[in-house]
Amino acid sequence: MELSGIGVGRGLAVGAVLRMPDPLPEPAAGQHGGDAAAEYATVKAALAAVSAELGDRAVRAGGDAQAVLEAASMMASDPSLDDDIKARIEAGTTGERAVFEAIAAFQDILIGMGGYLAERAADLGDVSQRIVARLRGVAAPGVPESDTPFVLVAQDLAPADTALLDLDKVLCLITRDGGPTSHTAILARSKSIPAIVGVGRALELVDGDVVVADAASGTITVNPSAQIIAQTRERIAQRAAIAHAPITPGALADGTPIPLLANLGSPAEAADAVALGAEGVGLFRTEFLFLGATRAPTVAEQQAQYVQLLQHFSGKKVVVRALDAGADKPLSFLTNSHEENPALGLRGLRALRASEQILRDQLVALANAQAETDAELWVMAPMVADAAETDYFVSIGRELGLETVGVMAEVPSLALVAEQVAQVADFLSIGTNDLTQYTLAADRMLGSVASYQDPWHPAVLRLVKMLGDAGARFGIPVGICGEAAADPQLAVVLVGLGATSLSMTPAALADVRAELLTVTLGQAKAKAALALLARTAVEARAVATATESITA
Ligand code: PEP
Ligand code: MG
Repeated sequence: MELSGIGVGRGLAVGAVLRMPDPLPEPAAGQHGGDAAAEYATVKAALAAVSAELGDRAVRAGGDAQAVLEAASMMASDPSLDDDIKARIEAGTTGERAVFEAIAAFQDILIGMGGYLAERAADLGDVSQRIVARLRGVAAPGVPESDTPFVLVAQDLAPADTALLDLDKVLCLITRDGGPTSHTAILARSKSIPAIVGVGRALELVDGDVVVADAASGTITVNPSAQIIAQTRERIAQRAAIAHAPITPGALADGTPIPLLANLGSPAEAADAVALGAEGVGLFRTEFLFLGATRAPTVAEQQAQYVQLLQHFSGKKVVVRALDAGADKPLSFLTNSHEENPALGLRGLRALRASEQILRDQLVALANAQAETDAELWVMAPMVADAAETDYFVSIGRELGLETVGVMAEVPSLALVAEQVAQVADFLSIGTNDLTQYTLAADRMLGSVASYQDPWHPAVLRLVKMLGDAGARFGIPVGICGEAAADPQLAVVLVGLGATSLSMTPAALADVRAELLTVTLGQAKAKAALALLARTAVEARAVATATESITA
């Protein structure tokens, strides 16, 4: 039997399944005995206990998990949730049901907001389960214990589960729910655990089933033959050897340099990226400074963060992206109107243009930071549609003292007029995540159309080629900073299409470095030429990765 889902990363695993216990059944609708005050007091005690337990887990977990668990702990002690539960109990509903309904209402609001917030709704579901379990006097559903390593299979994983996972024991995560940006996927990526999410038939797996999980292809082979198990173990050993190979600057087999850069979301991630051999930063996402804030950070506040980042990359290139608000990253002070299709709305440079002072402050903070360090700062705008928008961003950047100003290619229109853009911008950086979403007209947050979100699609590759050709003709660099650069075989094709640098999550650097060393520029171009002629993403991948393609 073979199951499929959305693979996270490139990892491989072979091992026996352990299932996470199923969630508690929904509390039945019903009325309590009449003593609302006593019913509420019991619930109030359960809320406090769950909040305290999650707070305690937060401290024990530390790291990234701490903030997530603290947020869950705060949800359990949220006064408006408490008020809602109390009102439902006073209207006669049982405590269990009141908790369930009040939290479900809260979840609906988050789901209605879409994107990142919708995915946080799962965290609330976990809080609800913990409170109901406590009211029933049963154990809260959680990660099973085992003395031997296992493949964890679950409907979904909540932060409270993942935070305390024993990472030495978990070989792979498989979940029925969740998309590429779900909590499970984020955790798996940051810890380099293979994961496959959104596996519709995951719950057909039972304890003890042996599986081979291949995140690169998103497939799970159940009870495979001894030969497949042996081959998989060999591939796992090869991957481990790659991970320990010497760190050298990114280059092809013929010596053509292809700098390998890191995608970072905060200065705190810089040290690890340097340790993994990042030769600079190809995408620094600045949203962390703004998300969750009720006002824009000041120039001084921003400057301090940018200096912290740049100090890690003395003499190296650091590409910072101007704030990319809107769509899955709503910001109350910038994008506050309701939009039916936020991905097609006032986002990225469009939103900054509508609030130009925020853009100017950010660029001033960056120019000041540049003056304080000796990193090579490049600045780019997200969601740029054409050469006129490029003119706008480049001229403000220059006016405010920035030396190297470029744009991201994420909207197909920009690729179609790439030659015009390349005459204005200092560099191009291709955001393949959004470029794929807009080329295939498939919302990248939506699981039901996830199969369209494949940057191997020849239509996307053709746009990349237009951008690469324009960069070569006008002598400007063309980087890749979307997830596509982290797929080693696609990275080769992107180089063949004209990419001059690749930027990715630091965990992917070793695999990409190793793959680039296997081909010359001529061979990469030959693979790219084959992929461009394919009719589907699957076909493009197949022709470009076939061994005979490299003799072309
Ligand atoms: C992209 O769209 O490819 C990109 C790198 O930007 P983000 O994923 O932050 O939208
Ligand atoms: Mg983008």
